[in-house]
Amino acid sequence: MNKRTWSIVLMLLLLVLTAAAVLSGRNGKYLDEPYEKEKVALDTLVSIKVYGEENRQVEQAVDLAIKEIEKVDKETDYYDPRSDISQLNKNAANNSNTPVPASAHLVEIISTCKELSRLSGGAFDLTLGPVIELWNFGGKGRVPSAHRLGNALALADMGGLKVDRKKSTVLFRRLHMQLDLGGVAKGYAADRAVDILKRKGIDSALVTTGSTTVVLGAKPDGKPWLVGIQHPRKEGKTLGTLELTNENVSTSGDYQRYFVRNGKRYHHILDPKTGLPANRCRSVTIVTKKSCTEADILSTAVFVMGASKGLDLLETLADTEGIIVDSRGKVHVTAGLEPRLSMSDE
Ligand code: AMP
Ligand code: MG
Repeated sequence: MNKRTWSIVLMLLLLVLTAAAVLSGRNGKYLDEPYEKEKVALDTLVSIKVYGEENRQVEQAVDLAIKEIEKVDKETDYYDPRSDISQLNKNAANNSNTPVPASAHLVEIISTCKELSRLSGGAFDLTLGPVIELWNFGGKGRVPSAHRLGNALALADMGGLKVDRKKSTVLFRRLHMQLDLGGVAKGYAADRAVDILKRKGIDSALVTTGSTTVVLGAKPDGKPWLVGIQHPRKEGKTLGTLELTNENVSTSGDYQRYFVRNGKRYHHILDPKTGLPANRCRSVTIVTKKSCTEADILSTAVFVMGASKGLDLLETLADTEGIIVDSRGKVHVTAGLEPRLSMSDE
């Protein structure tokens, strides 16, 4: 064969190999750099990063996971009258004697919230719906009068929220009670997204829904994922970085959603005892092996409880650690987390 024929044969061979790689989808593009997709959902920025050998499998899994998060958004949105939670709020609010049917997903979320609410001494309270609405954090923000706050707070009653897992029903013992899932929906959505990724054969991923993150597996080279913790007073700066594999992380902070009136900051995490913004912490980060749902609930709950009671609670929970920045800026870290946390330079 002459030179020209050789180069044609080589080119054809290359073409066949490329076509075979594309057709089998096994060209390992996402072994060095993860496939990444971002989307606005749940009133926040959602981002999914996945490593994997088969390009198409990775891309399809990420698309399905994003769709799952959008589904959770539709199920849990307090302000969408068609959402499952709005339907439940409507059906249960005028019916303090008869349990009403609820989706298996809602029953699962509410059950987990009830359990952790009990453990946190009521710091986490799903029944603050009317109080949260009054503050209008999603809009311009408004400081409610003591009278209106008192009336809305009188509708909250976590103890009066009953769930029957077997029958898949929910009962509001207090008339006109309304559930707000804002403190748990992002973590729950991340769990649902990761379930989809796992089912599609993915074993290395980072799913972030705003301030909650699921770390699935390690990176392909075996190294842990790095997760930065936002500094509560230095915008765009980290307080520290965590090296993680197979963990769930959630941060609740007074800087995430707030408005300023007459020089005072009013933020979105409310103390169920007063209906006012909880004032014991600047931020709380929870790291747990259990689930992102639990990480999310606990970060909100510990934020309300404050450093002392919060650390006591974390101490009693297996595979659960935390970083608490108290109202003076002092940083408290549980012993189990210290080796994995690198604090940023001042
Ligand atoms: P997170 O960012 O997870 O701490 O959740 C804050 C959101 O949870 C708020 O925007 C409210 O929708 C809701 N929320 C506020 N205070 C509480 C509370 N004490 N218990 C449960 N949910 C709350
Ligand atoms: Mg939360």
